[in-house]
Amino acid sequence: MNEHLLATMPTTRLRGVGTQLATNLTKLGIETVQDLLFHLPLRYMDRTKVTPIGALQPHADVVIEGEVRGCDLVYGRRRSLMCRLQDGTGIITLRFFHFSNAQRETLAKGGRLRCFGEVRRSSSGLEIYHPEYQFLDQLQPLPLQQHLTAVYPSVEGISQARLRTIINQALSLVSERSLPELLPEKKCQLTLIEALEFIHHPPSTAPLEQFSNGSHPAQQRLAFEEMLSHHLSLLQLRQAIQRHPAPSLNGDNRLQQRFLTSLPFPLTAAQQRVQQEIGADLAKSHPMLRLVQGDVGSGKTVVAALAALQAVASGFQAAIMAPTEILAEQHRNSFQEWLEPLGIELAMLTGRVKGKARERQLQMIRDGSARIVIGTHALFQEGVNFHNLGLTIIDEQHRFGVHQRLALREKGRGALLPHQLIMTATPIPRTLAMSAYADLDCSIIDELPPGRFPVNTVVVAKHRRGEIIEHIRNACAKGRQAYWVCTLIEESDVLEAQAAEATADELHLLLPGLNIGLVHGRQKPAEKAATMADFKRGDLQLLVATTVIEVGVDVPNASLMIIEDPERLGLAQLHQLRGRVGRGEQESHCVLLYSPPLSRQGTERLRIMRQTNDGFRIAEKDLELRGPGEVLGTRQTGEMPLRIADLQRDSHLLPEIKDTAISLLAHSPDRAQAIIERWLGGSQRYGQV
Ligand code: ADP
Ligand code: MG
Repeated sequence: MNEHLLATMPTTRLRGVGTQLATNLTKLGIETVQDLLFHLPLRYMDRTKVTPIGALQPHADVVIEGEVRGCDLVYGRRRSLMCRLQDGTGIITLRFFHFSNAQRETLAKGGRLRCFGEVRRSSSGLEIYHPEYQFLDQLQPLPLQQHLTAVYPSVEGISQARLRTIINQALSLVSERSLPELLPEKKCQLTLIEALEFIHHPPSTAPLEQFSNGSHPAQQRLAFEEMLSHHLSLLQLRQAIQRHPAPSLNGDNRLQQRFLTSLPFPLTAAQQRVQQEIGADLAKSHPMLRLVQGDVGSGKTVVAALAALQAVASGFQAAIMAPTEILAEQHRNSFQEWLEPLGIELAMLTGRVKGKARERQLQMIRDGSARIVIGTHALFQEGVNFHNLGLTIIDEQHRFGVHQRLALREKGRGALLPHQLIMTATPIPRTLAMSAYADLDCSIIDELPPGRFPVNTVVVAKHRRGEIIEHIRNACAKGRQAYWVCTLIEESDVLEAQAAEATADELHLLLPGLNIGLVHGRQKPAEKAATMADFKRGDLQLLVATTVIEVGVDVPNASLMIIEDPERLGLAQLHQLRGRVGRGEQESHCVLLYSPPLSRQGTERLRIMRQTNDGFRIAEKDLELRGPGEVLGTRQTGEMPLRIADLQRDSHLLPEIKDTAISLLAHSPDRAQAIIERWLGGSQRYGQV
C-alpha cells in the first residue's frame, strides 16, 4: 500500500485534527483524507465582493463593510447585543445572542468591520444574526475571497470554518501521486484533481444553477467515476464466477419438444427468442448469469420450465426458488401438471415441509431421483445437498439482493458451478437494470400472449363501495371470480390480518350467496395453500386477501379485482397486484377503491394506473416518483451506496460507464482494481468468489 495515498491516510494526519474532531468526522462518513475530498459542498456563498448596505436584499448571503455606529444590550425575549453598522449607503443591525464581554467591549469601541452572513428582515429594518466578522485595518486592506465559499453538510461539533480549513489542507496534499488519475484519457472533460479543485473552490463566475442540479462537468466527473467503480465491481464478480467451469447442458431437445406439444398454446415470438438466448447460454461450459424481464403475465414460467428441462435432458438437476410459499406451491402445481406426464420427478422444499416428509424430499434431492426441485429460500439452507445441480432459477428476483444470489451459487460447489437464471416480477427501469444488474445478461419478453384484453382500470372513491359490491355479486353470478385486496395496514401483519378478516366478515354478510375465502400472512402455510387451491378450482368465488397474493398468483378465471386503499402502494406493487387479473380470455376489471382526499403523489399514481397497462412505462414512472431506493428495495440499494452520484440524475452516464468498464477490465485491470478500491474500499464490495 502506498503510504502517500490519500485513500488510506487517516484524517488525524492533518494539522488540527485530534481524536475528538476525527470522531466527529466519522459521523459524516469521513475517515480518510480522501473521504474529506469527496465530502462535497451543499451550496456556495459568494464572498468575493462587498455589497453596499443600501443594496441588501433579505435572505442573501453577503459580505458587507462599514463603521460600527453604536452597540446596545437589549433585553427582549432573549438578551442580545445589537450593533449598528453604517457604510454611507444604509444601515444594518448585527445581532448577537451569544457573546463574551471582551467581544462586546471591542465592538463598542467602534471601527471598520467586514461581515459575512445572511440578511434577514426584522421589524426594525435589516439584520444579520451572528455574522462572522473581521476588523479592517486602514493601512493593510484584507484581501477578499478569490473563490466562492463552500457550505458543507456538517454535524454538531464541526463548524463550517473548521471543515473548510481541513478540506483545504486535504486539497493541498493532492497530487498525481497521492490521488492518481485513474480514468482513461478523454473520458471526461476534467481530471479528478481538477474536478475536486473546482468543486471545493469554484471561481466566482461558476454557474451556480448547474451546481445545484448536479449537472456541472466537475460533479459529473466524480459521479462518473463513482458509478464506474460499482459497475466494475459487479463486472469483476461476474468474470470471477464465469472463470469457473459449469456443466454444459447440451442434451437433446426431445423433452422440451414433448412439453411444448402438450401445452394448449404456442409460445409467443418473444418467449421463443428468450428461450433460445437461454438455451445457447446453458450449452456453454461456463456459468450463465441471465436476467429475464417480462411484464406481468408475459409467460415467464413456461420459459423457466423449458430451461429446467434442458438441464434434466442433460442429466442435471434444476432448482427453482420462489419468494413466497404461495408462489412455490403454485409453481409446484404447474410443474406437476406439465412434467409428470413426461416422467420427471419433482421435489418440493419450503419451510412448511417438515419431519419425515422433509427427510424424504432431502433424500430425493441428494440421491438425484428428484430432477427438478421447487421451493422457497429453504432450498438453500444447511443440510440441503444436491446430487448434481446444473441450473438455479430464481423467480421474482426483486426480493433478493446480490448477496443472496451469491449464496445460492454455493449450493453447486464442487467442480462445477450451476447456471443461474433470474426472473423479475415486474420490469425494472432500464437505467436501474443497467446499474444494479450489471453482473447479468438480460433477456426481455416484450410481448403478451395473444388474445389478452388490457385490464380496464377504474378509480372509485370509498363512498361508492356499495355499488362495487353489487358489481361483484353480478360478476360472480356470471361465473367470474374476484379478488378483494386489503392494503390498509402494512406496518403490522397482525393488524393487517385483522383488517382482512373484518373485511371478509363484512363481505360475507353483504354477499350471502357467495363462497368467500381469506388469505393473509398470519395463516399457516397449509391453510393458505388450501384456500388458494379452492379458489383456483373455482370453489370460491371471492378471495379476500392481503398483499400476500401480490406476486405471481395465476388464476385465469379471476377477472375482477378490487384494491382497497391503493394509494398506499407503490406503482410496481399495484401493477403486480393488478396482473393477477387479465390472465384469461374475458375482459377484466380492476377497481382502485381509494379513501379521499388523495395526496398529489397518490393522485398521480392512480392516474398512471388508469392510463396504462404497460409494465415498462409504469416502472419508469415509479422510478420518477419514488426514486431508486424505493423501486429496487432497500436491500439492493443498500448494497450500492452512492456518495456523490444519483442513479436517477446521472443515469445518462451509464452507457458510457458500461463501455469504459468493459474496456478497462480488458486492457487495464490494475486501474480497474484501483478504481474499485478508491470508491468501495479494499475488499471487493460484491463478494469474493
Ligand atoms: P408471469 O410472466 O407473470 O410469471 P405466467 O408464467 O404466470 O406469467 O403466465 C401467465 C399465464 O399465461 C399462465 O396462465 C400461462 O399458462 C399463460 N401463458 C404463458 N405463455 C402463454 C402463451 N404463449 N400463450 C397463451 N398463454 C400463455
Ligand atoms: Mg411469474
